[in-house]
Amino acid sequence: MIGVGVLGLGRIGGAHAHRLATQVPGARLSAVCDPDRGATAPFEGTGTTAFDDPVALVTAAEVDAVVIASPGFLHVEQLLACIEAGKPVLCEKPLAADPEDGLTVVEAEVAAGRRWVQLGFMRRFDPAFRDLVAAVDAGEVGTPLMLHCVHRNPSVRPSYVSENALDDSLSHEIDVVRWMLGEEIVSSQVVMPRRSPEAAEGLDDPKFVFLRTESGVLVTVEMYVHCRYGYEVRCEVVGSDGTVTTADGAGLVRRHAGRASTAVPASWGERFDASYRLELSAWVAAAARGEVGGPSVWDGYAAATVARRTVEAYRTGLEQTCAVGAAPALYATGGAR
Ligand code: NAP
Repeated sequence: MIGVGVLGLGRIGGAHAHRLATQVPGARLSAVCDPDRGATAPFEGTGTTAFDDPVALVTAAEVDAVVIASPGFLHVEQLLACIEAGKPVLCEKPLAADPEDGLTVVEAEVAAGRRWVQLGFMRRFDPAFRDLVAAVDAGEVGTPLMLHCVHRNPSVRPSYVSENALDDSLSHEIDVVRWMLGEEIVSSQVVMPRRSPEAAEGLDDPKFVFLRTESGVLVTVEMYVHCRYGYEVRCEVVGSDGTVTTADGAGLVRRHAGRASTAVPASWGERFDASYRLELSAWVAAAARGEVGGPSVWDGYAAATVARRTVEAYRTGLEQTCAVGAAPALYATGGAR
């Protein structure tokens, strides 16, 4: 059993803590940290230590590995503390709001001479996306030419601004493209249709993002955060010899009284619940072997770089080039698997 400490008990950290305590083989939820006493109170008397100070959790003897689920602007500082302490980390995206800050984590791992961090791009553990990538790898569509991605949320919190779809949510599509195609994204453009009447004043929604890769694959991403009917993520790969599309993962299709219907997940937490569990289980199993695998800090840096240029494309209305650069030898495979 390895003792896992969780930093941040909000929407995703609270769910990860629950999964670690009840569903992840080989893991023991040994510690939690959140400034909100109400969030840590339920752990009192359960054998899980509650900390006020994130660094105290990271260095605690009962913590063998750390999950970072605090707000994104804290990730770099907390990751550097984990690397210094020599503890494996699963860090939720984003690596950093600012790609240059993200590079300091790359440099810390390179200086340490090994990987300590897995980035929380959980679609790499999602059965539907794994099947999609396996089909492309097997040559089922011939040469990939285009990807059509859809990323819809029913609604967003009042503090959500136009850029959040691009500097936060889009990182999952950026990572899928790099993971599937094993190449970098070289340009980004943002085009907007008519605004949804559901969107708050000043919020542009929906948006289309056009990403182009090194070999010329064109990716369309519909980012739409007021679709109302549920949470939906889809990806179709169009190739020289056919197409493959993710199954919706929603379960049964019912045909009754002249109608066919299937459930649409209500939220990302519901849609990706199994993926988060598989992601945590793979990370814990690797940590128990003294290893770290999965998406890397370099993948987080690449996503942050493309996201930053996409925000620039949105603000200027112009296509922007993206220059991720060459990965250090520690991340030899770059965006590939
Ligand atoms: P959230 O609900 O705001 O939760 C963040 C929690 O961290 C809050 O309880 C916050 O407390 C706490 N916190 C603040 N400062 C802290 C510190 N210094 N140390 C430890 N905890 C601290 O946010 P969320 O939606 O869970 O998102 C957390 C991270 O996960 C973000 O980076 C987000 O992008 C990412 N995320 C990823 C996915 C995915 O699909 N992979 C999905 C959702 C979120 P206060 O509220 O008191 O400040």
